[in-house]
Amino acid sequence: MYEISVDCSFSAAHALRHYRGKCEQVHGHNYKVRVTVAGEKLDDTGLLIDFADLRSAITGVARRLDHQFLNELPPFDRVNPSAENLARHFFDEVAKQVGNGLRLSQVTVWETDVSSATYRPTR
Ligand SMILES: [Zn+2]
Repeated sequence: MYEISVDCSFSAAHALRHYRGKCEQVHGHNYKVRVTVAGEKLDDTGLLIDFADLRSAITGVARRLDHQFLNELPPFDRVNPSAENLARHFFDEVAKQVGNGLRLSQVTVWETDVSSATYRPTR
């Protein structure tokens, strides 16, 4: 099996609802996101998926969130904008754009250099 990953970053503010601690207050992160695609077969060029196509999918999602207050944007006006839920959001949005027998295997979102959350569907 082959796996390829593309990273991107964006900056945004959030406030965690129902959280007792300083993350309940509005604060910002320079988020990093890594999207990983898996598949068994390469195309005639020897590629699983063109990095540029995957990059375009992930940056499209990130652009909508960049320099925004996440709590005001759907789905985070209802769903808490935690790193876990951001990973799920990126997964769902990028998965819509990945076809040709490929599957999105996981998405990791870093809030800081040392704190990350990964979403991977259970099979
Ligand atoms: Zn935070």
